[in-house]
Amino acid sequence: MFFRKAGFQKGRAWIEISRENLRHNVGQLRALLPKECELMPVLKANAYGHGAAMIAKELQKLGVQAFCVATALEGVELRQSGIRGEILVLGYTHPEQFSLLRRHRLTQTVVDFDYAQVLNSYGKEIRVHIGVDTGMHRLGENWENLNRIRHLFHMRNLRVAGMFTHLCAADGENEEDQAFTAMQAQRFYRTVGNIETSECTSLKAHILGSYGLLHYPELAGNYARIGIALYGLLSSEEDLSRCPVNLRTVLSLKARVASVKELRAGESAGYNRAFTALRQTRTATLAIGYADGLPRALSCGVGSVLINGRRAPIIGKICMDQTLVDITGIPDVRPGDAAVVIGESGEESISACDLAKQAGTITNEILSRLGPRLERVLEK
Ligand SMILES: *Cc1c(COP(=O)(O)O)cnc(C)c1O
Repeated sequence: MFFRKAGFQKGRAWIEISRENLRHNVGQLRALLPKECELMPVLKANAYGHGAAMIAKELQKLGVQAFCVATALEGVELRQSGIRGEILVLGYTHPEQFSLLRRHRLTQTVVDFDYAQVLNSYGKEIRVHIGVDTGMHRLGENWENLNRIRHLFHMRNLRVAGMFTHLCAADGENEEDQAFTAMQAQRFYRTVGNIETSECTSLKAHILGSYGLLHYPELAGNYARIGIALYGLLSSEEDLSRCPVNLRTVLSLKARVASVKELRAGESAGYNRAFTALRQTRTATLAIGYADGLPRALSCGVGSVLINGRRAPIIGKICMDQTLVDITGIPDVRPGDAAVVIGESGEESISACDLAKQAGTITNEILSRLGPRLERVLEK
């Protein structure tokens, strides 16, 4: 063998996960939950880029017993890493993949009544949570169709273990959003109430995501499906500054300096020669690009990275695998040094929220697009 199995992990571009901060966030979020409500962390999209298996194992050590994913294959990955307990698939699963649900004891969301019939016709028992559409109009059977929802409990092959709805304006601060959220909750709990008295008494009912828990903890239910807040973030910087609990970011993103160059005034750099040096300029080429999830929209000075505690603006167009930064005036930068793309260096820091703002999107998109080439390294 020319390389060891557990080889060096920080060779090119990598993610560092803070176990301590993850534990801190679990503690903070649990403190918000009423007694009968459990944390049901959302590990979809590779745990918002953090690394689903690694995060799930840490959570399992902390006593977490229920998880959400978006797809059946994400659920399979968790089972293969030794995750026990409930794994709820929040999204659509194709009938050809129903066998995975059974083989790996995954719980499937009933995305609507027609889908329930397809699930039922598979002919073998499948554990499900019923999605109830209370106004988002994405997935779930319409709350108004109570008879259809009732009928699901009598389908021979569905084992209904829970019901949930998803709030679509829980992040809103204005009165209209608050009224809409109250209406969604009322519709949901009315539906649950109708079912509980007639069809089933031990249902798990859940309604809250991160913003729901932070803004409407009184709506609790049996589970809180927490994604973004678990990772110490919210969708935007403004929301985070108003956050009622103290959360800590779990992820840092770093990349190696591959090469350092001197440009004379008038020389250009990168694709389309999008950067031209106005003066003598020192550049560093970083071993990370848009294929790793660094948005190309941060090109040409929109974004920056940190090297030796100093800010180095991105110059030219971000490439698929590489990025150029201006390190003029930052002493002692050498090939092999680490640049911080998300995280802290000296007194400076760049958050995923900063990147999101610069790229015109939300934190969730930045994180969930962090690619498979990035190694995930668990730190203390
Ligand atoms: C993604 C998702 C969540 C988690 O949302 P966050 O805002 O990240 O906490 C919860 N429920 C459903 C149905 C989701 O799709």
